[in-house]
Amino acid sequence: MQQTIHIKDKRFRTFIPEADILREVRRVAEEINRDMAGKNPLFLSVLNGSFMFTSDLMKCLDIPCEVSFVKLASYEGTSSTGKVKELVGLNEDISGRTVVIVEDIVDTGLTMKRLIETLEAKSPKEVRIATLLVKPEKLQVKLHIDYAAMEIPNDFIVGYGLDYDGLGRNYRDIYAVTD
Ligand code: 5GP
Repeated sequence: MQQTIHIKDKRFRTFIPEADILREVRRVAEEINRDMAGKNPLFLSVLNGSFMFTSDLMKCLDIPCEVSFVKLASYEGTSSTGKVKELVGLNEDISGRTVVIVEDIVDTGLTMKRLIETLEAKSPKEVRIATLLVKPEKLQVKLHIDYAAMEIPNDFIVGYGLDYDGLGRNYRDIYAVTD
């Protein structure tokens, strides 16, 4: 059922219901179960946005694997690039390991590209990407996205872990902004 919610100054309408999300998460999990069998992968969940996706994805995995949580902390860089995102919270030694980044959404792809570069410097065996959502029209960099649950247009969305100004992460469905 279509539902409208209000968060601060914005209105959002149901865009992807929970049942559809979970069906696609299960599909991606089956691909991962098949591809990652015997690799003992380390899933690196990028907080905050991916907490719900990570939880549902992990519940569908039946291979030996580990999960850990990292954050990308923004700080004002001194270089001309302005904002820089630094990886915090990675305590595991990833050298020689298969790492699967678990993200909420790939928009321009700049965050993901930077994250991959940071991880590659630590000599993993391979780094793969699993994302709940991709906005293909917005992608600015070349990225090989191994596992994507859903592709969406350019709308700004909230729910299922994603926020607007800190709010809205708790909703089971995904909502798109209407104005
Ligand atoms: P990128 O570097 O790919 O442009 O940005 C990725 C990050 O931007 C995501 O991890 C997410 O935090 C945020 N983001 C991009 N699009 C959306 C959106 O539609 N809704 C929300 N809530 N966050 C978004």
